Amino acid sequence: MRKVIIRKAGYDYGTLRPVFFEIMDGLGGKGIARNSRVVIKPNLLAPASPEKAMTTHPLVVKAAAEYVLERGASPVISDSPAMGSFEKVLKESGIKDALEGLPVQYREFKKPVTVAAGAPFRTLAIAQDAVEADVMINLPKLKTHAQMLLTLGVKNLFGCVVGLSKPEWHFRAGIDREMFARLLVEIYRLVNPSFTVLDGILAMEGQGPGRSGTPRDMGILAGSGSAVSLDEAVCGMLGIGADQLLTCRIAKEMGLAEGDIAIDGEIPVVRDFKFPLTGSLVFGPKWMHGQLRRHFVQRPESDDSMCALCGECWKYCPAQAIKRKGRKLEFDYDKCIRCYCCVEVCPHGALKAVDTLPGKLLRKITKR
Ligand code: SF4
Ligand code: SF4
Repeated sequence: MRKVIIRKAGYDYGTLRPVFFEIMDGLGGKGIARNSRVVIKPNLLAPASPEKAMTTHPLVVKAAAEYVLERGASPVISDSPAMGSFEKVLKESGIKDALEGLPVQYREFKKPVTVAAGAPFRTLAIAQDAVEADVMINLPKLKTHAQMLLTLGVKNLFGCVVGLSKPEWHFRAGIDREMFARLLVEIYRLVNPSFTVLDGILAMEGQGPGRSGTPRDMGILAGSGSAVSLDEAVCGMLGIGADQLLTCRIAKEMGLAEGDIAIDGEIPVVRDFKFPLTGSLVFGPKWMHGQLRRHFVQRPESDDSMCALCGECWKYCPAQAIKRKGRKLEFDYDKCIRCYCCVEVCPHGALKAVDTLPGKLLRKITKR
């Protein structure tokens, strides 16, 4: 049986801490050895305050750090943000303030190490600190993701890909969502976090995972020794089959989801969660995909009144499909691979993934 523990929780630290500790104890956290180096990997997507629900809440990170310290081990807070400096994300997310005075280390994932990986990748360059940690505690946020539907335990580990390699991977694998999901599961398999505890207290629905998403109060913390099992349980909670989350489907194919899930706790039933409209309109033979993507899949568009022309989107775009033209942005939709990284990284919420007219019609006809 694959165990998933779910508890009601809020951000009052007096009650959050014991709930977090109970989940960790239930997953065997007491076995963390003294003096071991424990990497705590929150979701530190970009600089944003906790109310935006873009990053793992600072008090969840604090509870994890205190749990590790109680074991006599050394906590290291690490990630490789998609945008903004690591320092800036730590500050704006409230983590630096919340953990003030605790003997924790902060180390950005910077140095990659090449590790052997399964087909079709053969090798992958992943943060050395993540691969060589004695223990990893993975702390994802429950959020929607315009490209991958949801970002939960498995997807959170994409942060173990260092800095500028992320857009490269988005380009190589993001053209094909299935390939990207395979990459995410492979990273999960290689990093193999011992514990995954999901911050689903203030979650995000709609067009996540960046500022286009909408925070939603869900009031849960959920943990498992297997990020795949946790993700499957969350799919069930949100009323979708685990097969609808590509990473879960591929993890199952790879033998990482054998046996039934045993839920410890009461799993809430959420039937009105707003999922993003994803690029699921790409179907049929591969040679048709380019045309389908161009005409039917949602594309990024900017709201010129909100755009500060800061350049983050065109710097990050893996396909180099965005250009500044005077006071406006210009998208080359032939080049654009619909990875929505630009929507994710825009610090001003000026970009949205928008349905094309043929896409809207096709959705109506096919009820996709
Ligand atoms: S769309 Fe966003 S990221 Fe791009 S230039 Fe404008 S404000 Fe910056
Ligand atoms: S324009 Fe946006 S969605 Fe298109 S490839 Fe660039 S980053 Fe991805």
